[in-house]
Amino acid sequence: CPLGPALLFVKTSQGKEEGRRFYACSACRDRKDCNFFQWEDEKVSETRRAAREEYNRNHQPFFTHRQNVERYKNFLLLPLSKRRFCQECQQLLLPAEWQKHSDHQVLCDISTAQLRSPSQLLYPLENKKTNAQYLFADRSCQFLLDLIIDLGFRRVLSVGTPRLHEIIQSKASQEEDFRVRSLLLDIDFRYSQFYAEDEFCHYNMFNHYFFGGEAARETCRKFLYQDNGERVIMVTDPPFGGLVEALASSFKKLMAMWKETEEGHNNQEMPMFWIFPYFFESRILECFPSFSMMDYQVDYDNHALYKHGKTGRRQSPVRIFTNLTPSMIVLPVEEGYRFCAICQRYVSSGNQHCEICNSCTSKDGRRWKHCVLCKKCVKPSWFHCNNCNCCALQNHACEKTDAGCFVCGKAGHKRSACPSLSRT
Ligand code: SAH
Ligand code: ZN
Ligand code: ZN
Ligand code: ZN
Ligand code: ZN
Repeated sequence: CPLGPALLFVKTSQGKEEGRRFYACSACRDRKDCNFFQWEDEKVSETRRAAREEYNRNHQPFFTHRQNVERYKNFLLLPLSKRRFCQECQQLLLPAEWQKHSDHQVLCDISTAQLRSPSQLLYPLENKKTNAQYLFADRSCQFLLDLIIDLGFRRVLSVGTPRLHEIIQSKASQEEDFRVRSLLLDIDFRYSQFYAEDEFCHYNMFNHYFFGGEAARETCRKFLYQDNGERVIMVTDPPFGGLVEALASSFKKLMAMWKETEEGHNNQEMPMFWIFPYFFESRILECFPSFSMMDYQVDYDNHALYKHGKTGRRQSPVRIFTNLTPSMIVLPVEEGYRFCAICQRYVSSGNQHCEICNSCTSKDGRRWKHCVLCKKCVKPSWFHCNNCNCCALQNHACEKTDAGCFVCGKAGHKRSACPSLSRT
């Protein structure tokens, strides 16, 4: 499909043991965005294949990345008064194109500072299930950057983190002694208007597909290979509706790419921050047993629910998963995080060390309580139910629905209605 190789899914129907397998778009969870569908065992005629290829060609961006880089150079030569950005087409305009966009909403006097912060200029693609762009709040973005610098990293592979990439690139162009560099891999091609070919690759993280082909793949490889692959970290913040297994498979391929560096990093893994909600913990750990979840709450700008406020604050469920030693991830004490000497990691202020579990067990930042019958700590709002033989909300319905939710594992609702996924 236009977004690269499709993924193989399985349709299971109740009562039947084996489901039928089919290919569908890797990145679009909404059939309206991409309707590619093919049974695994389906024969595809030559005509249909040709039609598909033509369709895919027609659904590629109008300008190539190379052309966009050329356009950007010309744009920079323009005086402020001639620098315009079309908000409708999400495109930098050259004077010859003004006419075509005359009845569109256009921003004028685009400054160098604005060009350095494309994530502020472009509108976030949040209503589309495909992109689900949620930008870091300054507080979180700055925290991540400081952490990366304090840990001694020099290069950041930014996978779906345009705002982190942008503060790094912006500092690199303005501060002489700022040594960190970043390469952005993202499916949002609008960014190709602002970054050169060695700063941005059009990439799909659900199927490890580089739209720019071998040359783009080589760009990524080169970036990872610098300094024998040392002091590089990958940071990713994928859309939360995404399939963990598909993401993990791509990330493993990026890790493998790094591993091929000259020195060969024996048994090491490329350091990584995977930013994702805490209720995906077990599924991420299944794919990456070496990872652990940090208590730090990542906040976003354009998501009212996930903002870090003072009163009536909604706690963000988004965390950092990493294969670095947890004790190295120092969380800000001014925000209430403290070090637990037994767990050897920073935890949120409300997270109490449980003597029985021998761990700081809270996942959501509130103080959890131990249930002796369940033999584990549970949310403060839960009570042990003798009918269900586990802890649950006091007013839960006691009958068990057949299958749990695919996202959070809880019974009573399907993936699409999962309250944990209010963000998608
Ligand atoms: N918090 C981050 C943005 C995360 S939003 C920041 O502020 O930098 C998710 C990002 O992943 C978006 O930039 C979106 O364009 C990108 N994305 C969504 N689907 C993708 C895919 N299939 N492949 C690569 N990037 C994708
Ligand atoms: Zn502890
Ligand atoms: Zn406990
Ligand atoms: Zn219990
Ligand atoms: Zn759920």
